[in-house]
Amino acid sequence: MTFQDLNINQAIIKAIEDKKYSKPTEVQTKVIPAVLNGKDLLGCAHTGSGKTAAFAIPMLQLLSEASSSWTDQGKIRALVLAPTRELAIQIGESFSSYGKYLDLKIGVIYGGITPKQHIKVLKREPHILIATPGRLLDLIEKGVADLSAVALFVLDEADQMLDQKMIQDVKAAISKLPSERQNMLFSATMPNEVMKIVNRLLKNPVKIVDRNESLESADIKQLVYCVEEPDKASLLLELLKGKAYESVLVFTRTKKRADKVSKALNVANIRSKAIHGDKNQSERLMALELFKNKEIKVLVATDVAARGIDIKDISLVVNLDIPNVPETFIHRIGRTGRAGKSGLAISFCSTEEKESLMNIEKLQGKSIEIVAR
Ligand code: AMP
Repeated sequence: MTFQDLNINQAIIKAIEDKKYSKPTEVQTKVIPAVLNGKDLLGCAHTGSGKTAAFAIPMLQLLSEASSSWTDQGKIRALVLAPTRELAIQIGESFSSYGKYLDLKIGVIYGGITPKQHIKVLKREPHILIATPGRLLDLIEKGVADLSAVALFVLDEADQMLDQKMIQDVKAAISKLPSERQNMLFSATMPNEVMKIVNRLLKNPVKIVDRNESLESADIKQLVYCVEEPDKASLLLELLKGKAYESVLVFTRTKKRADKVSKALNVANIRSKAIHGDKNQSERLMALELFKNKEIKVLVATDVAARGIDIKDISLVVNLDIPNVPETFIHRIGRTGRAGKSGLAISFCSTEEKESLMNIEKLQGKSIEIVAR
């Protein structure tokens, strides 16, 4: 299967060729035709499966085909809601690159930048708006964002939007959309709360890929070290000094621990930065840039801060602790082994965390190899 086989127009094909993708990913071969056919879509796909291009490419195509019939210019035609600013920015970059030979404008708005900057984004009259829910709602309430002409709507990483405030904002934003529209919902996992939104939002959706399939197809080797809390930091140092991993993403449960671990790594001459909710927007973006450019080797992150990070070639994900929510584990390790590359995920498990590890194994339907020390 090639992108040509998916009936994508030449302007988009050219942009895809610039990205040097040789063929569509599995998710793309399923999602692109469904969206082009005007269907609602439920995508159980994890980050790394190529899902952003899977929805961005057909949306760009539908919008460029429809654009000649728009009588009222200057309106937002497509809306993508994403849980974090990092992800919103990344999705915006994807739309811009796949749509670079089209005449469509793309805007991104998120928390942490000044209202003045948002107004500037909206004044440029984007056809496609990518937004985090809270900030979008602010702008709707202020009367600056108008969703009345939105024909395509995407809710991305829906399972990361489950905190009460965000869910309320998502629902409020959806209520401002016109009733005639095409909807897409993507989520790595489908907890009950997401299913409630699915049932309300989607009409006879085409359903694609289940989580286990997508994880298996990503080639991620998983290992566990049994190690108690006080020894975890020194084991991490040992691991990182022992092998020449190029880019390592370390997850910690708390912000304080992320800072502490990052500091210890720097003291040991392993260049590192921490990202978490207490860091401001520019610190977070700076840390991501340094990591992407391989100027630092290790990024230490909390789950919320790491959401949506799309960095190629993460050679190793380390779980310094075992998350209580098994789905979080799937999200974390999905950062390595992206788009067909092989990856490695190493988890440190203390005696108290064994039960959480068992739940993770149950969810994945397989046990994780224990490394003897
Ligand atoms: P996503 O799952 O949308 O976060 O995408 C994961 C990564 O895969 C991104 O870095 C994309 O640039 C990359 N990607 C998307 N589609 C393809 C493709 N067909 N071939 C190779 N890489 C791709």
